[in-house]
Amino acid sequence: TPLSSLLLGHFGIGLVGLFGIFLAGRKLGKAYETIERQAAIDALTEIPNRQSFSDTMEREFKRSQRERAPLSIIMCDIDHFKEYNDSYGHSNGDLCLKKVAQAIRSSLKRAGDFCARYGGEEFIVLLPNTSTDGARHVAERMRLKVEEMGIAHKESLPAQIVTISLGVATSKDTATMVSIEDLTKYADVALYKAKEQGRNQVQ
Ligand code: GH3
Ligand code: MG
Ligand code: MG
Repeated sequence: TPLSSLLLGHFGIGLVGLFGIFLAGRKLGKAYETIERQAAIDALTEIPNRQSFSDTMEREFKRSQRERAPLSIIMCDIDHFKEYNDSYGHSNGDLCLKKVAQAIRSSLKRAGDFCARYGGEEFIVLLPNTSTDGARHVAERMRLKVEEMGIAHKESLPAQIVTISLGVATSKDTATMVSIEDLTKYADVALYKAKEQGRNQVQ
């Protein structure tokens, strides 16, 4: 009958419309995922960015207090990087940053370990459930990995190759009650000491 074919026609159009909405929704979902990922990852080095570090730190800090477990951070900074840019150019500087970031990332072994680009040529590593000794061990591995790449840097005093200086800090348990700010500050002070004492070292 004309009525049933009219109903069928409308039903068909409705189905096509729903399918269209479904496709558009899926596309939006994927776009959203991409944006979320890009917001957390540093575009140059392809490791997490500072915002991502802050989020992870917040979470891990709370957990370490809850579980009364030690939490270590390592702050690192490339030695004489300004001179590297001056000698080899900014785009080679960018390439160097990428390589150092990968070296740092590949120095981390445990699933919970986390590294991020903290600033221009500064990186930060978060080591949950890790004591000072353990963190010093990881930091030394990072230092060695960068050194072993042997990237030429004729203006760098320690070894005429690209090197990094590192500062380690650990929050031991809830008794000491340090804050995230304190912990970061201590790592920064240690890093400053590493610079002062001749660079290419862990403090
Ligand atoms: P120090 O050994 O004391 O750390 O000396 P430094 O020259 O590394 O320290 P400083 O902080 O004065 O210089 C950091 C330089 O890093 C400045 C800037 O030219 C360079 N830099 C920061 N971000 C980038 C980047 O994204 N790409 C490149 N190519 N260079 C960068
Ligand atoms: Mg710096
Ligand atoms: Mg530097």
